[in-house]
Amino acid sequence: MASEEGYQRGMVVIAHPDDAEYGCAGTVAKWCQQGMSVVYVVCTDGSKGCDDPNVDTGWLIETRQQEQRNACKVLGVEDVVFLNYEDAMLEPTLDLRKDIVREIRRYKPDVMVCETPMRTLKGYGYMGHPDHFASGEAAMAAMFPAARDRLTFPDLLADGFEPHKIRELMIMTFAGEGSDKWVDVTDTIDQSLEALSQHVSQIAHLGQEHLEFVRSWKVNAGKERGMGPVESFKSYVID
Ligand SMILES: [Zn+2]
Repeated sequence: MASEEGYQRGMVVIAHPDDAEYGCAGTVAKWCQQGMSVVYVVCTDGSKGCDDPNVDTGWLIETRQQEQRNACKVLGVEDVVFLNYEDAMLEPTLDLRKDIVREIRRYKPDVMVCETPMRTLKGYGYMGHPDHFASGEAAMAAMFPAARDRLTFPDLLADGFEPHKIRELMIMTFAGEGSDKWVDVTDTIDQSLEALSQHVSQIAHLGQEHLEFVRSWKVNAGKERGMGPVESFKSYVID
């Protein structure tokens, strides 16, 4: 089975456990319902996502990875790869690019979702996490041209990872600048919030209110376009 576009496989590249549940989980759930096979690639270990001075780093990493697996189970995501770079220290290095290329060549997605590589100067409260920009830049550079080109990272080829060309890139935009693709998530928004709620260590203290707040972004973004709730993307379809 496949998506409306004829895609059979999707990949989501994110910096932290929970990033995808904010930006694209309704779309992912829709793809899984349509029979697509979806995999997550999480770049960092999530080891800085806690303010409690008594929390053990090893425990936090393990907990956040399990929360991400639980969220993926709710959505129907087939596999989660943790690249385990240190949280809050992520940079778009060649090592990170190569690690993402390896996963692209392994899973051969038709479509890839990533975070925005751009910092904007919009005046709302959330400033943007540097790891998000780094993971977006690394994912885009991995997709094009590195995953596609035979001569880039020859050791991957030697290990049997043949070049792969992704057909579409969708950058999560949260209805911001550059959005040009809106996926109607009317039928999966509840499932996406259920997935978000699996990230207990990150949001339990924020209560149900937080889930409703996230719902309202997607509902309001859809209203502006005369649609039901949407998730917003900047899309590049590759010829
Ligand atoms: Zn994040």
